[in-house]
Amino acid sequence: MANLEGKTVLVTASGQGIGRASALAYLAAGARVYATDINEALLAELPASDRLITAKLNVLDDKAVADFVADIGAVDILFNCAGVVHPGSILEMKDGDLDFAVDLNIKSMVRTIRAVLPGMLERREGAIINMASVASSIKGVPNRFAYSVTKAAVIGLTKSVAADYVAHNIRCNAICPGTVESPSLQDRLRAQGDYEQTRAAFIARQPIGRIGTPEEIADLAVYLAGATYTTGQAIAIDGGWSL
Ligand code: NAD
Repeated sequence: MANLEGKTVLVTASGQGIGRASALAYLAAGARVYATDINEALLAELPASDRLITAKLNVLDDKAVADFVADIGAVDILFNCAGVVHPGSILEMKDGDLDFAVDLNIKSMVRTIRAVLPGMLERREGAIINMASVASSIKGVPNRFAYSVTKAAVIGLTKSVAADYVAHNIRCNAICPGTVESPSLQDRLRAQGDYEQTRAAFIARQPIGRIGTPEEIADLAVYLAGATYTTGQAIAIDGGWSL
């Protein structure tokens, strides 16, 4: 595991799921971690540590993001984990779903990256990690129109930032998970009606034969923070789904 002692990490959406596991993995790697989420009750369940600072941060709010980064100072590693999954094809999705997904899945990352980049440029060092998905430009997945459109954009965003700032020693990579255990996955399984049947179908589409764990994704998030020769990559971590 990378040694991130002395580094400051900002993680969005770290109240549960992959964001939570990642905040804890960055902590275990020695970093000072700002674990943020819109839901303060979830953040309150994170373990206490003098290197783990929890804070409410709504990544939909331009001013809140800018003010938060200005308050905390240098951010060496940014993990943009916040995102939302809307069900439905292009004909089935509800009014407003695509706009909301653009705001939460894409524009939130624009906000945080614009906030941390000036400091990274000054220090000539930085790692940005963006949460995309295999359901994106990597793979067509049924019933995930707004989600796939916006997660594909995350890959484009990642490559663009990587290209613009590679000469400044700032790296930007995307993580593209398959299906991962998380509270929102449980909600999606229950929403289908037959929980067991839907879960079996989700497992069946992962050739490795199981759903991934948040900790497996968190390991990649820590790796990318320290992967000093890797930039502009969209890395699938999907149990073989995109094979
Ligand atoms: P989750 O969906 O269970 O939790 C999401 C977290 O985001 C919650 O803690 C919630 O409070 C927080 N949040 C929601 N709106 C917010 C806002 N405006 N500002 C700040 N925080 C906000 O977590 P998950 O399933 O681990 O998903 C995390 C990320 O991983 C998402 O971007 C998701 O698209 C992506 N992803 C998940 C899977 C999966 O199968 N779970 C697969 C691929 C990609």
